[in-house]
Amino acid sequence: MAKHTICLIEGDGIGHEVIPAARRVLEAMGLDLEFTEAQAGYEHFLETGTSVPDRTLETVMAADATLFGAATSPSHKVPGFFGAIRFMRRKLDLFANVRPARSHPVPGSFEHVDLVLVRENTEGLYVEQERRYGDTAIADAVITRGASQRIGEYALNLARRRRNKLAVVHKANVLPVTQGLFLSTIMEEAKRNYGDVQAYDVIVDACAMHLVRHPQSFDVIVATNLFGDILSDLTAGLTGGLGIAPSGNIGLEHAVFESVHGSAPDIAGQGVSNPTATVLSAAMLLDHLGEAEAARKLETAVDTVLQEGPRTRDLGGSASTAQFTDALIARVK
Ligand code: ATP
Ligand code: MG
Repeated sequence: MAKHTICLIEGDGIGHEVIPAARRVLEAMGLDLEFTEAQAGYEHFLETGTSVPDRTLETVMAADATLFGAATSPSHKVPGFFGAIRFMRRKLDLFANVRPARSHPVPGSFEHVDLVLVRENTEGLYVEQERRYGDTAIADAVITRGASQRIGEYALNLARRRRNKLAVVHKANVLPVTQGLFLSTIMEEAKRNYGDVQAYDVIVDACAMHLVRHPQSFDVIVATNLFGDILSDLTAGLTGGLGIAPSGNIGLEHAVFESVHGSAPDIAGQGVSNPTATVLSAAMLLDHLGEAEAARKLETAVDTVLQEGPRTRDLGGSASTAQFTDALIARVK
């Protein structure tokens, strides 16, 4: 059995609850795992003046993969503060933001949905190049062939491991230069090297409607940064919402997995948070490390407990984080 080193970062708020819960579950699985710990986030910034210290970057880089709890994003601009995940995405070149949406036995989840949204994580409108001339404000959207090629190949390879379908989301009808470069780069790569994958283009607004009306028709979706950001909240909403949705920030060398939800300050410290999103992120992490069998076992255990209970408060139950976690552990042992 291969040994893996996993870096754990609790972050802020309920991160202090969901990461220890996920760790207990991982420890119960009988894998050869070693855990390291590091600090990052807004609380760390308030204590030390930096949200991601160098030591944390080193620990993340030394690990085989990282599981991140949650980060607070202050609603106003705080001088000197930068978001921990955004910083790591840049520093570690985590170019792919991967967000699976699979049906779960919880209220509000559509049935038979099994898709993965792949969001380009490094450019587009998120290069943060904004300026203002009097009453005119301008933001740059940067699209490069290199980044489009890289995210396209990632999405095509993923489609190949799944149901061989890739929707390339764009708005090239209005933005033929930037969106057109993204679209043509991926479609050409698909034609050249992925004859087995059915790659097709979908305009982003139509994609939003199709996702709500026929989410079952999608397999892998690839999109530029902003469109991917918006659509991935939509897909999280299709399958049970924030408490459940996992994600991965994946690069060639490093990977950081995290729940889609934030630090939930309204319930932090009460021991009632739902660790499902973090546990499912841990399953993605195991998959990434080549432990596919363990990953499936963990996902199945989550769905069994979601189905049979006990459920946490956000899903209409009354279980604490610990009670839910105990039930999960009983299923993965
Ligand atoms: P942040 O600034 O950290 O993003 P937020 O106020 O946006 O904080 P979110 O974490 O995004 O809060 O959560 C939005 C809502 O969903 C909150 O009411 C929160 O309690 C709830 N929620 C989010 N994650 C969970 C979870 N894992 N378990 C239970 N409830 C959750
Ligand atoms: Mg939030």
